[in-house]
Amino acid sequence: MTDQFTGKTALVTGGASGIGKAVAVGLAAEGANVAVVDLRQDAAQRVVDEIEAAGGTALALAADVSKAAEVKAAVAAVVGSYGGLHLALNNAGIGGPQGLLADYDDSDDFAAYQALMGVNLHSVYYGMRYEIPAIIAAGGGAIVNTSSILGLVGEPTAVPYTTAKHGVAGMTKAAGAAYASQGVRINSVHPGYIDTPLLSALPKAAFDALVSKHPIGRLGTAEEVANLVLFLLSEKASFMNGSQVTIDGGYTAV
Ligand code: NAP
Repeated sequence: MTDQFTGKTALVTGGASGIGKAVAVGLAAEGANVAVVDLRQDAAQRVVDEIEAAGGTALALAADVSKAAEVKAAVAAVVGSYGGLHLALNNAGIGGPQGLLADYDDSDDFAAYQALMGVNLHSVYYGMRYEIPAIIAAGGGAIVNTSSILGLVGEPTAVPYTTAKHGVAGMTKAAGAAYASQGVRINSVHPGYIDTPLLSALPKAAFDALVSKHPIGRLGTAEEVANLVLFLLSEKASFMNGSQVTIDGGYTAV
């Protein structure tokens, strides 16, 4: 363990669970002040309590990241509490509609499609919109956006999710190219299937089918993804910008 993030302030969306929680805990353990942003205040507060019990510094903020005004308010609250912002993980996400595109029910699934885009794609746009000026004002830093292997390859039964996650990769490239010269590096991570609460509703047969798609023979853990995110947010990744970094046990290698 190091104190490589001491003096830095970080914002993590979806920080109450899974990958976001592992990143929030990891950043705090290495010295950062961490804002845990999530839909439910109580869930975010539980992670803050855990961080504080381990000697770290954190703040719980409730926000629906599919709403620009709530993201703007969250960034402002972080800057107000800690005096600036240096690091961010735009990570909140949901599963969304499954099945073949032409079979989706118009009334239900168009609404589900819009909701998925709001949480998985527009949220990243809103996040960067308000984080980037704050990070520049603080003297520079880094952003990581959580995409997916489905931001690199397609899943026939998850067209909406695949679309949103490819969009995250695209906006990461464009924004990274736009702001690196002002000291903001922006990269995306592309996890294979990770054993988090997002997959908890899957029947065992479906879970086992997912495992079989990973040559490494298992799903990933939130901590394995967090290790990569912490690296990308750190000075060790100082020449990485606009990159799409895969962490998938070989899923996209075959
Ligand atoms: P998770 O354990 O379900 O955590 C996601 C968190 O985001 C939850 O706390 C959730 O709150 C919160 N959230 C949902 N909608 C939100 C909103 N509108 N505003 C603010 N917070 C919201 O999921 P995870 O597996 O860690 O996933 C994190 C990210 O990784 C997502 O972007 C996901 O697409 C991506 N990813 C996951 C996998 C995987 O296999 N798990 C693979 C590749 C990429 P609630 O619990 O209250 O809904």
